[in-house]
Amino acid sequence: NAFLALGLIQPLVDAVAALGYTAPTPVQAQAVPSALAGGDWMVSSQTGSGKTAAFLLPVLQRLLTLPPAAASRVAAPRAIVLCPTRELAQQVASDAIDLMRGVSAAMRSASKHDKVRDAVRGLRVATIVGGMAYGKQLFDLRGADLVVATPGRLLDLQERKQIRLDLCHMLVVDEADRMLDLGFAEDLAALHDATAHREQTMMFSATFAPRIMTLASRVMREPGRLEL
Ligand code: AMP
Repeated sequence: NAFLALGLIQPLVDAVAALGYTAPTPVQAQAVPSALAGGDWMVSSQTGSGKTAAFLLPVLQRLLTLPPAAASRVAAPRAIVLCPTRELAQQVASDAIDLMRGVSAAMRSASKHDKVRDAVRGLRVATIVGGMAYGKQLFDLRGADLVVATPGRLLDLQERKQIRLDLCHMLVVDEADRMLDLGFAEDLAALHDATAHREQTMMFSATFAPRIMTLASRVMREPGRLEL
């Protein structure tokens, strides 16, 4: 199986098969093994290229294989995906939930992977975007491991002490070029500082224009480049 060959664990391979994906797209074939190997990555990718799964698969694999998080009174996600718009964040979160459903179904039919099964049970995805009622977001946030967010609302919740970002292991910046177009440079810098202890950062962008490279050098350490 071509997804297994990328280094993905069997429950995630089963989950992509359940979505009807038969082979990785070029961005997935490059970004998944790179991300799983560790380090920071800068990836060029267009909408429609399969870029969402290219970062969700390694993020979910990391979450599924990390030791369980210590209980925390305040939400403390271990992975954060930043998106420029509410619509994109909702789409990414929906894709993450679809993959998690596939993982859960795979776990039910297999009795192996005990550690992964325990992780799946606890894995929660929250969407944090502007223009949404606070009550529902705070409810979704409880125990969330993966937060998919637009930058403004995430910083807002951090200022209100409804979320702590310092336990985040992985940060993904999706559509970095649109982030800059929409004026999120300062918010990205603040979120970079708030998640300073993270182990890995990935940035996806349609282009590697100089302003994107400047942002990349601010928020990543010697990122590898995948140009597709
Ligand atoms: P994206 O570029 O992430 O917005 O993905 C574009 C579309 O391609 C989405 O509808 C995905 O469900 C679909 N897709 C992603 N990866 C694959 C794959 N490996 N095989 C077939 N379809 C895919």
